[in-house]
Amino acid sequence: MAQLLFVLILTVLVSSSSQQEETVMDKILAANRDMNLFEGDIMQTATSRNGIRDVSKLWVTRVIPYKFKTGDYGNSEQNIIRQAMFEFTARACISFVPWTTETDYLYIKKGSGCWSNVGRRGGRQDLSLGNGCVTKGAAIHELMHAAGFWHEQSRYDRDDWVIIKWENIKEGKEHNFYRYSELDVSALGTDYDYGSIMHYGATAFSSNRRPTIVARVGTPSFGQRRGFSDTDVVKLNKLYSCNESVGWSDWTEWSPCDDTCTKTRQRFCSDPNGCTGESMETETCPGLCQGANVARVIPSARKFDA
Ligand SMILES: [Zn+2]
Repeated sequence: MAQLLFVLILTVLVSSSSQQEETVMDKILAANRDMNLFEGDIMQTATSRNGIRDVSKLWVTRVIPYKFKTGDYGNSEQNIIRQAMFEFTARACISFVPWTTETDYLYIKKGSGCWSNVGRRGGRQDLSLGNGCVTKGAAIHELMHAAGFWHEQSRYDRDDWVIIKWENIKEGKEHNFYRYSELDVSALGTDYDYGSIMHYGATAFSSNRRPTIVARVGTPSFGQRRGFSDTDVVKLNKLYSCNESVGWSDWTEWSPCDDTCTKTRQRFCSDPNGCTGESMETETCPGLCQGANVARVIPSARKFDA
């Protein structure tokens, strides 16, 4: 995957007259207007775009050290963010510990807007919860990015579940609605989750306050502001293999065949005193290679929805 530096000027119109509850994502996008971020709140620097298939981007010990930037948050704000962290511990197996000497850690600061990298980047990794984002819901959303999750509507199979209304998207913002190949992003065996805390609101990046995303069937509300959906919890537990206490995680599902006609699966070790790191298995795909033309990013989704 090419190394990409996204320099994208985002100006976001968020519907204030929506009949729907304002979602976490709506709040985040409102706080991030005028920010140079990918998909509204993802900080992609000059690293390759790694999806959640890549276990080397996970926090393999299931412990995420963090440090608040000195002076940025008062006690009550720190407590709100810690409540968000506690949800990861209570409902999955991820714990957050104050940073001491660890190499890799989250540096949580009141930057401009709210944003995070996706997954563990290595070294100090900034995560911003700026003004308008110091809420439990927004903190959970950004911490989910840091734990390795993309936005729900960028799943490879999203067009089976939603229709992107390209005509309502503000010009120049279409990239926020790209979807990613199954080679990079795993759905972790779950159905598409309209109620994910990682889902955009219905009018995200709208030019005209009309919806930019509608469901193919029914009228579910998208995203929410309360916290994890049940499926978010399932995925978090699966990604971090929370059913295994320590030692080697479960293998990921096999990837699809890639452009070299191979497929891979990965696992990681969660016991720093035992096994270390991660391992990968590779198999040659049988029969005709299917993957030669699999696009990693699919910017032409428009044609599927016309
Ligand atoms: Zn986000």
